[in-house]
Amino acid sequence: MILMTHIKLFSPGPIEVSEKTMRAFSRPMIGHRSKDFQTLNAAIQPGLQQLFYTKQPVFVSTSSAWGVMEGAIRNLVSKKVLSCMSGAFSDKWFDVAKKCGKQAEALQVEWGQPILPEAIEAKLATGKFDALTLIHNETSTGTMNPLWEIAAVMRKFPDVQFIVDCVSSFTAMKIPFDELGIDVMLAGTQKALALPAGAAVFTVSEKAYAKAATIKDRGYYFDFLEFKKNQESSMTPTTPSISHFYALQSKLEDIMAEGQDARYARHLENAKLTRAWVAKNGFNLFPKEGYESISLTCVANNKNIDVAKLISALKTKHSCVIDGGYGKIKGTSFRISHMGDESTENIRQLLGWIDGCLAEL
Ligand SMILES: *Cc1c(COP(=O)(O)O)cnc(C)c1O
Repeated sequence: MILMTHIKLFSPGPIEVSEKTMRAFSRPMIGHRSKDFQTLNAAIQPGLQQLFYTKQPVFVSTSSAWGVMEGAIRNLVSKKVLSCMSGAFSDKWFDVAKKCGKQAEALQVEWGQPILPEAIEAKLATGKFDALTLIHNETSTGTMNPLWEIAAVMRKFPDVQFIVDCVSSFTAMKIPFDELGIDVMLAGTQKALALPAGAAVFTVSEKAYAKAATIKDRGYYFDFLEFKKNQESSMTPTTPSISHFYALQSKLEDIMAEGQDARYARHLENAKLTRAWVAKNGFNLFPKEGYESISLTCVANNKNIDVAKLISALKTKHSCVIDGGYGKIKGTSFRISHMGDESTENIRQLLGWIDGCLAEL
């Protein structure tokens, strides 16, 4: 047993990590310039490419997702980035772009509202932009943006780099990188992948490599061309979190054994169960109808329950937690994560526990 008695996380990241994954994560170190590491890195490539639905190499970055989010800005923006903003993470990406010294313009909608393709098209038609950042699944508000419709608009603007954060939707649903024409797609390990925190996975299009090659001050640690060059010999630019490679190898086995489509269906089933629970209990969903996240449910606290008290009851009675709301909607919303390895039975049990705690609040 590697996992001690612990508080199980139903908050949207980090999430619960399985015993099997933890065992893989805890394997002894190997030299990162060794043949063994190359073999390990090469072994997980096909599976990672399958998860991204791409022929491009997939990289494991030893950073949280923000490293690659900042890296994408540094590698790809020379004119101006259009920052699609609809929640805490996407709002912050705008600030990060400016902190990188880049020109950025906000496309802001209210939290819980989706980013619509028409709004993007109107902005891009000005010709001012060479990149766009989009968070597919805004985890702070549980809102999912219409990625397919947005991708269709992006095809009309081939000079604009399409940078997509799929941190909390990756492997919860099919997101085909090549087919959608995305230029950078990234995800953190601690969300739907159900791995320990501390690494991110990402892939990059030919168009994005060509653009990066024209940018002088793209830095070193997140230089996409460095990643690509090293990956050609199954290496990494710097000493990576080798433990994450082992954990990914183990997780890929799990995902392929379950089947990708079955995994997506399970996430959808969990989302439906949770949304039905919300309606049955007289709560509202925080996101606009039709744009609810598949991997977590953000509940509007329209009944004004004491969220902190609910979470503390869950912790005491059932050794688990949900999340009490993110940023400016803390307390006026709460979030239930149903991503990763959770079965529908687990989610049903959790919802039953929440019912029990609510009755005693
Ligand atoms: C969690 C999250 C991030 C940030 O991830 P870090 O691991 O803190 O870097 C970014 N975007 C989204 C959508 C997230 O859910």
